Amino acid sequence: MPAKAQLIRDVRRFEWYIRHVWPIHRRLAHKHLTPRCRRCILPQSYAPLVDGLCPHCRATQSTDAPPSPARKLRMHADFDRRLRALPAEKARLYHAMVLFSGGKDSSYMLHRLLQEYPDLRLLAVTVDNTFMSPVALENIQEIIRRLGVDHLTLRPKAATMEKMYRYAFTHLNDKGCAGTVDQFDGDFFSDLSRNLAAKLEIPYIVCGLSPAQVENILHLRDYMTSEQDEALAREQVAGIRLRDLFDEQEMNYWWNGPAWPAERRPRMLFPFYFWDLDESFIKREVLRLGLMPRGDESPLITNHQLIPLMGIVDMLTLGYSSFEPEFASMVRQGKADRRHWLYSFETLEYAAKTGHLLGTAVDEALARLSLTRAQVGIGGTDDTLDRLCHPARAVGPAGAANAPGHGLRGAQPGRALAEHHLETVS
Ligand SMILES: [Zn+2]
Repeated sequence: MPAKAQLIRDVRRFEWYIRHVWPIHRRLAHKHLTPRCRRCILPQSYAPLVDGLCPHCRATQSTDAPPSPARKLRMHADFDRRLRALPAEKARLYHAMVLFSGGKDSSYMLHRLLQEYPDLRLLAVTVDNTFMSPVALENIQEIIRRLGVDHLTLRPKAATMEKMYRYAFTHLNDKGCAGTVDQFDGDFFSDLSRNLAAKLEIPYIVCGLSPAQVENILHLRDYMTSEQDEALAREQVAGIRLRDLFDEQEMNYWWNGPAWPAERRPRMLFPFYFWDLDESFIKREVLRLGLMPRGDESPLITNHQLIPLMGIVDMLTLGYSSFEPEFASMVRQGKADRRHWLYSFETLEYAAKTGHLLGTAVDEALARLSLTRAQVGIGGTDDTLDRLCHPARAVGPAGAANAPGHGLRGAQPGRALAEHHLETVS
């Protein structure tokens, strides 16, 4: 598949560049780069730095407050008890659904669940948003074959997916692409899988979101969704009313809790919330277990094809990537490598501001969404930009950090949104 070979070549070149050339190049590219916290990587354009430190790293007490080790142990025991009780409970086609994207996290998770719970009948489910990386699609077939697990791919029609992303990219809220495009992505996947699980009477959906994603995308501070959450109907995502965007038939993709009897509503479980693993451990494990070829464990290869566009749009409209706060938090907690992520976000910023190093990924993604660069705020005239619905616009290109919801208050991405839309988020 030439698309796959091309993608691997581009990513390998980019990663080689970040590792070997960028440490030198960054000194010359200084004027294009926002200063970032010298302890984590939080950019100055997101939160003010004092003595090179962000508010989190200046605070005497941790503002991230991950769950305590004792609480993680309790969550782990509860998870274990629930899964082990399933086979004796009732005859079912499947005991649990495992969301499987083909990336390193869900590959590790699926393997571990199969090892630790051999009595469970698991159904691995892939939701293909039609923008999936060809490498991820190929890895999925191979990993599923090796693990010997039942597998189902759900691929909604491309026109619906394109419409959703087109709308999200042109109606970004103050949390940028993470709070809009990625929020739609995550919520859509959750709801498709919840509908399928309810239909097949599967009581649990196990999902490989990281602790930061559980908190930012689901606005949840637990490893499991509650019965109350699952009883709700989703009416909006990222502040956008779903009925304004989707027709009656498409609305069936979205979760409608009240339409199901309580015992048919599945609960979502997030074991990474208590497993307490860092990125490098998971990478080593998937390679050691031979789950994917060396190099394919890079998220740049297995992520979907809208990620580069999201990065460029954020850099040029917000002044930072809306994913930086999440990775900065992982760096502070010792769960991600500082140098790697600092250099990655700096390179992204340099690429966005100069147009250098940008491959064809951005324009290909735009073409599929029938959007122009001007329509997503990364080119074109001011007149075009003014018509766009983006809160960062209101404060001008350099002042996005002062937009409502940013800076210190916004230092917990998704929080403000969570409080605002709590009734629709589950
Ligand atoms: Zn910091």
